[in-house]
Amino acid sequence: MTQKTRITLAKGDGIGPEIMDATLRILEAAGAEIEFDEINIGEKVYLNGNTSGISNDAWDIIRRNKVFLKAPITTPQGGGYKSLNVTTRKFLGLYANIRPCFSLNPYIETKHPLMDLVIIRENEEDLYAGIEHQQTDEVVQCLKLISRPGCEKIIRYAFEYAKQQGRKKVTCMSKDNIMKQTDGLFHDVFKEIAAEYPEIQNEHWIIDIGSAKIADTPEDFDVIVTLNLYGDIISDIAAQITGSVGLAGSANIGEECAMFEAIHGSAPTIAGQNIANPSGLIQGAIQMLAHIGQPKVGEKIQNAWLKTLEDGIHTGDIYKEGLSTQKVGTKEFADALIARLGQVPSQLKAVEFAETGSLVLPKYQRKPAKKKDLLGVDLFVHWADEDANKIGAIMESISLDSVKLRMITNRGIKVYPDGFPETFLTDHWLCRFKKTEGESMSNTEIIELLKKAIAAGIDVIKTENLYAFDGKPAFSLGQGQ
Ligand code: NAD
Repeated sequence: MTQKTRITLAKGDGIGPEIMDATLRILEAAGAEIEFDEINIGEKVYLNGNTSGISNDAWDIIRRNKVFLKAPITTPQGGGYKSLNVTTRKFLGLYANIRPCFSLNPYIETKHPLMDLVIIRENEEDLYAGIEHQQTDEVVQCLKLISRPGCEKIIRYAFEYAKQQGRKKVTCMSKDNIMKQTDGLFHDVFKEIAAEYPEIQNEHWIIDIGSAKIADTPEDFDVIVTLNLYGDIISDIAAQITGSVGLAGSANIGEECAMFEAIHGSAPTIAGQNIANPSGLIQGAIQMLAHIGQPKVGEKIQNAWLKTLEDGIHTGDIYKEGLSTQKVGTKEFADALIARLGQVPSQLKAVEFAETGSLVLPKYQRKPAKKKDLLGVDLFVHWADEDANKIGAIMESISLDSVKLRMITNRGIKVYPDGFPETFLTDHWLCRFKKTEGESMSNTEIIELLKKAIAAGIDVIKTENLYAFDGKPAFSLGQGQ
């Protein structure tokens, strides 16, 4: 008898329990060799006073089983509740989020009949680190953290995925024309890794026009790799234009653990009515079957799913008069799929899943440290007077002999010296001090500067050191410089 794989299961909130019940019935009917440990996470746990939405016992089960099938959950608004999805991805190191989006023309109405792309989204970094601070009365900040290991892992994953799945092209999307350090690192690493895969085409799009292009001609894309926030947005766009956001599933893959889910949320307004489309979670479960070495069970479900849709048996979100034959609820969709297990679609292309197993990537090798020189420091200041020349004069007065004020910016625009009177000024100022050209600054000089600023009555809200790595300055310049 085949050893069953133990999987952690969470039925989630909103439409979660309905789509999970439908998915579980399908998995059982298809003969998946799986046993489940069910955990409670989400809204009820949050509202019982646990702000992370998950108990320690539930974590233990997830970590023991290593594979997690999760229905969507609701994060209550306000009250300091943390998104459990983001927390789970980060705690378990699930760095790669794989979101296939393909159209099923002509059976599901779409303006994009030829689309078949996979979005590979970095899953742990970017603005989702959730490090936010209010610094002045008028300004809040969110830190965007991008690491070289994070970039290397996700980009290598995208190329290995393309190789394994016989896909031809990997497209990188970033905004490095503006964010030269963070998105610039992602793009640079993409160029380095792409060179290791000459058999796979590569290209880069700036995310704004790239998203427009996905919405217009998605058939031009194959595998897309991108940063966390952009990936979140473009995968909803891509899923929606195949016909419904309810159609796409997603795998979250780490070195140890993996989590599988639908890409959509808990859709509370349609919960409990047996109208939700269970396809997204079914697609997530099929990805899970491939991951745990049961691709043939996944293939059987996928072909029955295609046949059901081809037969026009559609939930309300994709139902179209004249195209669909029957409007069904969540349960009835699952029944129709189960009745077709063992069949293949007659018009749509039947799938054949190879026994490829999950991708195993080499461990990240830390690079030798670069030569790091401290060139200066940015003092961020809370100052409510709108006269840039006044703050300029004060900051000039605290300069040290060899560490001088070079400029002041307000929301990234240079306003001192020689600012424009038209520039709108907030109460948040960046005052850049730099050492004489060619010399390195010391940390004690930063402390001296801070002491002088405090003595002059300046409210310094944070400092940021300005470094050069291997002689290359690695910080942004103020616009207007
Ligand atoms: P949503 O994805 O739940 O819903 C967006 C729209 O799509 C709604 O009109 C909804 O009715 C429809 N929809 C979604 N899934 C559907 C399905 N399977 N069948 C038919 N229609 C479907 O997004 P939202 O409304 O922004 O978020 C609702 C809640 O879900 C929020 O609390 C949010 O935090 C949470 N959420 C959870 C996850 C997750 O658990 N992975 C992801 C996103 C949002």
